[in-house]
Amino acid sequence: MTTTSATPTTAGTNATPGRPATVPTDIPAEADWDRAPSLLDGAESLELTPAVCNLRYWLQAVPNGTLRGNVLGHAPDVRPLDVVRAPGPLNSALTQELAYRSVAEEKATRAIGYLTALAPDNDTMEFYSTQLIDEARHAMVFRSHLLELGVSQAELFATVDRLSAADRDQILIPLENLGLRVLRDERDFIGGVLVLTVLVEGVLAPAAELSERKWRVFDPAAADIERGAGIDEIRHLTVGSAIVRDHLRDHPRDKARLLELMGEGYALWEKLPTMEQLMRRESLFQRGIDEHGHLLGDYEIWPGRRLVDTTAQERLETGHEWAARMQRTRLAYMGLEEAI
Ligand code: FE
Ligand code: FE
Repeated sequence: MTTTSATPTTAGTNATPGRPATVPTDIPAEADWDRAPSLLDGAESLELTPAVCNLRYWLQAVPNGTLRGNVLGHAPDVRPLDVVRAPGPLNSALTQELAYRSVAEEKATRAIGYLTALAPDNDTMEFYSTQLIDEARHAMVFRSHLLELGVSQAELFATVDRLSAADRDQILIPLENLGLRVLRDERDFIGGVLVLTVLVEGVLAPAAELSERKWRVFDPAAADIERGAGIDEIRHLTVGSAIVRDHLRDHPRDKARLLELMGEGYALWEKLPTMEQLMRRESLFQRGIDEHGHLLGDYEIWPGRRLVDTTAQERLETGHEWAARMQRTRLAYMGLEEAI
């Protein structure tokens, strides 16, 4: 795996005439809106650790670099197209996705409270407190975007509940229960990092990358929200993996136990109806392409493939392949390749 320097590289300070620059405003490339790699490339190629990604790093990198001050995850003049704002298959696909993702992020936020409490050292505690804020922000921006898709403020939380209820009960609650058993009941920090990094984020992350690419033309605001969350996710995946790798290097006898936990996690995943859920959303998106595909022009979802020519099955399978590749790379990096 390539080691990429996380040293700030952007020139520029906040010096004002007559005053020395005491607070650098350098943004690390991997957290910079314009220069960060895609989620898939970044999560496979970067190496970041809690010692690098502590609170000081986050304060310097995220509010001005990743977010550029856009607290809702996109610039105010970037808006969804009317065909997404109006009732129809695109509106249904995106509102269902955002509601579900918002609940997933909220559950992650709450679970990360345990990681913060159990963190073994100060850098790790600071890293998880920043990840906690990142996930709370993701929940907030996914939910807030529903307001731009025709949901009223008064109905916002009730709408999230209604749209996400079935998937929450069938997918998110079983995963949450595993996380809570490990973190809250067993107070197993490293087991919790593994569940979060491999099972939750490692599997959901490629879906986020697909979402950014799918919505880029129909709803550039949603795509930008995904892009910002994806930049955060590079950090969550790489730092989480580094924590597990270093733990196994220092405690090799813990490996069998962690492999067993992964086995349990994968067995749980097998039983969750995630494919049905993704297919339902892709089918709605496909109806949207059928109705409004002319708006997509020659936009390519990935190099050489126009989005308008793709099928629901193809998008689903590609997301699945990305997830599998990312899992293999991350697990090998941690020293847990036998888990696959
Ligand atoms: Fe997130
Ligand atoms: Fe995350």
